[in-house]
Amino acid sequence: MNLAVARKRMVAELEKRGIVDRRVIGAMLDLPRHIFVEEAMADQAYSDGSLPIGEKQTISQPYIVAKMTQMLGLTGREKVLELGTGSGYQAAVLATLADRVYTVERIRPLALKARKALDSLGLLNVNLRIGDGTEGWAEEAPFDAILVTAGAPDIPQCLIEQLAPGGRLVIPVGDRSDQQLVLVKKGLDGALHKQEADGCRFVRLIGRNGWSEDR
Ligand code: SAM
Repeated sequence: MNLAVARKRMVAELEKRGIVDRRVIGAMLDLPRHIFVEEAMADQAYSDGSLPIGEKQTISQPYIVAKMTQMLGLTGREKVLELGTGSGYQAAVLATLADRVYTVERIRPLALKARKALDSLGLLNVNLRIGDGTEGWAEEAPFDAILVTAGAPDIPQCLIEQLAPGGRLVIPVGDRSDQQLVLVKKGLDGALHKQEADGCRFVRLIGRNGWSEDR
């Protein structure tokens, strides 16, 4: 099947599953997900599943990308932090929908590949850093939105601190194999409001405020 047709079908399925944010739908219709996976897997890029990207990591399932992005409620003015760049696809979606994106990946070869893919699309509003994202990006805080795309045992306190008043954080929290999406809203007075959404299965968030490598 033609990749553009496959992409349209993928987005139609997302709408059937409850993705209603027109901006999220538009971004996922525009962005070529197939350039974020190995060429040999391009024909699988628009099925609703995660795919291997090397280094035992994955590009997330399109539905989960759409759902988490929708939960952030982006309007186009935000400064966003993403932890777990992976292939760079989620960063590309965020860069299309927000003002500036800061993304952190701990595995260098993945970060370098993601940078190339993002550059090939001319997404110049993405800053990428190699390091431990569980510490956030203190020098650039506060962020209007924070998205964690790896499974965490708990919500790192430093991320709450780096969230701006009025900001939103979305993070999968749970054990090593199963997690729940959690949305944390920070009120203008700093009060926190937490809401749980879909169950999910992410690779682990490994670092100082996440899982340790050998657990
Ligand atoms: N957002 C990615 C995408 O669009 O392809 C998918 C992310 S993949 C499910 C999770 C990524 O988080 C992996 O690339 C992994 O190396 C990364 N990761 C895990 N722990 C991390 C940490 N402490 N800091 C930064 N990246 C981390």
